[in-house]
Amino acid sequence: LAAKLEALRDLPAITMDGQVVQMMGNIEFPHEVELCKQRGANGIGLYRTEFLYLGRDDDPSEDAHYESYAEVVNDMGGLPVVMRTLDLGADKMRSLPDPEDERNPFLGLRSIRLALRNRDLFRTQLRAILRASSLGEIRIMFPLISTIMELRQARMVLADAMEDLEEANVPFDRSIKVGMMVEVPSAIMMMDRFVDEVDFFSIGTNDLIQYCLAVDRSNKDVANLYTAADPAVIRMIEIAVRVANQHGVPISMCGQMCGNPLYTMLLLGLGLRSFSVTPSAIPEIKRACRSVSTEQCVRVAEHVLKLESARDVKNFLKEELAKVF
Ligand code: PEP
Ligand code: MG
Repeated sequence: LAAKLEALRDLPAITMDGQVVQMMGNIEFPHEVELCKQRGANGIGLYRTEFLYLGRDDDPSEDAHYESYAEVVNDMGGLPVVMRTLDLGADKMRSLPDPEDERNPFLGLRSIRLALRNRDLFRTQLRAILRASSLGEIRIMFPLISTIMELRQARMVLADAMEDLEEANVPFDRSIKVGMMVEVPSAIMMMDRFVDEVDFFSIGTNDLIQYCLAVDRSNKDVANLYTAADPAVIRMIEIAVRVANQHGVPISMCGQMCGNPLYTMLLLGLGLRSFSVTPSAIPEIKRACRSVSTEQCVRVAEHVLKLESARDVKNFLKEELAKVF
């Protein structure tokens, strides 16, 4: 099987009826680019940049940001790299959290909220990303957007950074694509407005599941409730994909759900054509895409949308997967 998956590296992720699926890789450190390339990724769909902040109390310099971004863009040799801005807080702490600090860190000052409160930190990172954008195809993605105003504020900080660089004659990609993660239910309820504000979306199921079901993603005591197979989660994804596709705004998924072949048919059937997964999962998901037809996937998705429990969804998807693998 390993040899078979290896042989998939240079084959496209394409369904039996010819629908092309973008297979991107998620990375947390620059050196993981190598793993993505070895497995034939079409780009980096999620570059988590928190590693720069973890385990240190001071802030990385603009050049430190730049170096680690430039390395990835250069290594990818022209393939797109989606850079997610600062997603610190909650599960991504720079040091051990003080339990007194926040009672509900996942509902607290994390991610884009933290970035907007620490404008210098945010601007430093954005400047570095913009500088690296002159070296290849970079896209910027804001995490945890929950309101339109928040997105506009983030875009304003970005516009300021662009203006500064322009004045200083520092080269960058003036038409850089700007997108957002869809990982908060409020963003899904407002999808028809967000479509006018971004160039692309990426669904972050890891957070979406926890906010949809009110289940802490890191709490073992409620882990049984935390599942991508929950019908409510699937309905949310269905809305996000449908609205984005209706408006012609590219939408991808970068949460762990799409790295599990159990969900490949469902996600294709819901209309997704781009996945970003942990590098080791690329060959398997590619194989899943190559083993199915769109028609079959649409039928699977239609049936799943009628089910009422995560257990029923999982059982059905297991049966369907067994038919193709
Ligand atoms: C997600 O929330 O699905 C995601 C991809 O981001 P992270 O796991 O880094 O929060
Ligand atoms: Mg997330």
